[in-house]
Amino acid sequence: MTHLPQRSNGRYVLLGSGLNELRGLVQVAGMPAFRAKQLFHWMYHRAALSFEEMHNISRDFQKWLAENCVLGYMEIADVRESADGSRKIVFRLSDGRFVESVLIKEDEWFTLCISTQVGCAVGCTFCMTGFGGFQRNMTRAEIVAQVLLVKRAIHGELPRNVVLMGMGEPLLNLGEVVPALRVMVDPEGMAIAARRVTVSTSGIIPGIKRLGEEDLGVSLAISLNATTDAVRDVIMPINKAYPIAELLQACREFPLRPRRRITFEYVLLKDINDSLEDAQRLAKLLRGIPCKINLIPFNPDENLPFERPPEERILAFQDFLFRKNYTAIIRYSKGLDVGAACGQLAAHWRESTRKDA
Ligand code: SF4
Repeated sequence: MTHLPQRSNGRYVLLGSGLNELRGLVQVAGMPAFRAKQLFHWMYHRAALSFEEMHNISRDFQKWLAENCVLGYMEIADVRESADGSRKIVFRLSDGRFVESVLIKEDEWFTLCISTQVGCAVGCTFCMTGFGGFQRNMTRAEIVAQVLLVKRAIHGELPRNVVLMGMGEPLLNLGEVVPALRVMVDPEGMAIAARRVTVSTSGIIPGIKRLGEEDLGVSLAISLNATTDAVRDVIMPINKAYPIAELLQACREFPLRPRRRITFEYVLLKDINDSLEDAQRLAKLLRGIPCKINLIPFNPDENLPFERPPEERILAFQDFLFRKNYTAIIRYSKGLDVGAACGQLAAHWRESTRKDA
C-alpha cells in the first residue's frame, strides 16, 4: 500500500510526513526515489520554509511541489520576550485560531513547550486552557511546525528539550502526535534525542499504553497534582475516568528504557494539596516507580480560584520528599510577565481579537 502525506484543500501537506509518505509522494510525482530523502532532509534537518530553498531539488520537482503541495507552516502572530529570557510565541493557524509555544530559558539551554490541541477538553480547574474549553486537534504539520519555526525564525537552532505540555492533552490526539514525534526524534529528521522529548499527560491511561507500544523512546511526564481521588476528582475531573491507583499501575507498566525515569508534575495549591500528609501520601504512592518529582508552585490568576502556598510550606513539602530519597525539584514558572501558565497568552489573544471584531 502506498502511503501519502495528509491532504487539505486539494493539496498535500508535507510537514509531519515520514519518509514513507514522502516516498509515496515522489512516486505520484513520477520523480526518482532519492528525491524523497532529499525532501525529508530539507524539511526537517534544514527546516526549509519554501520549496525554492531546496536548491539541489530539480526545478521540475520544485514546480510540481509548489503546484500540488504546501509545507504547512502557520503564521507567527506575536513573540513576547520575558525579563527572564523566556519567549512566548503565538501562532495564528490557517483557520484563524491561536495556539502558543513557550521557549523557556533554563541555565544554559532552552526548552520549548509546544501545544498539541487548540484548547483542551480535560478541564483541569487550575488551568487557563481547560477554562477555555476544547476547539480542535492540531494537525501533525502544526505540531511539528512549532519546533521548526522556532529554529528558523526565532531562535536560530533547535531547542535542547521539547516538552508537549502547552495547550491540550497530547494523549487525546495521538493520531497526530505520534507521527510528529517520529520525525522529531528521527536521526535523519530533526534528530532531537528521544529522551529530551517529553510527553506530558493528565493521565489518559489508554494513551499511556499506546505511547509505550509505539516504542519511540520519548520521556513521559504525569500531571498528578493530588494524592487522593477525592481531591484529584475535583481539580482534575479526568481522574473519575482514570483514578490514581490505575494511573500509577499504568506508569509501573510503561516500558521505560534503562536509567530513565517518569516525571511527576505536582502543582502546589494552597490548602488543597500542599500539606505534609500529602507529601507523605505522595512518597508512598510513587514507591517503586523510577521517577522524579517537579513541584510547581501555582501561578495565581484572577480567573482561577486557587492560591500559591507560602514559601515555607513549599520547602517543607520538598524537604519531606528529599528525606524519603526522592528527587524533587521546585520549578518556578518562567515568563510570567508575558502571560503565565499554559494557554494564557493565547487566551489573551482570543480576547483581543474578539474585542477588535
Ligand atoms: S493542564 Fe493540560 S490537560 Fe489539564 S486542562 Fe490544562 S491543557 Fe488540558
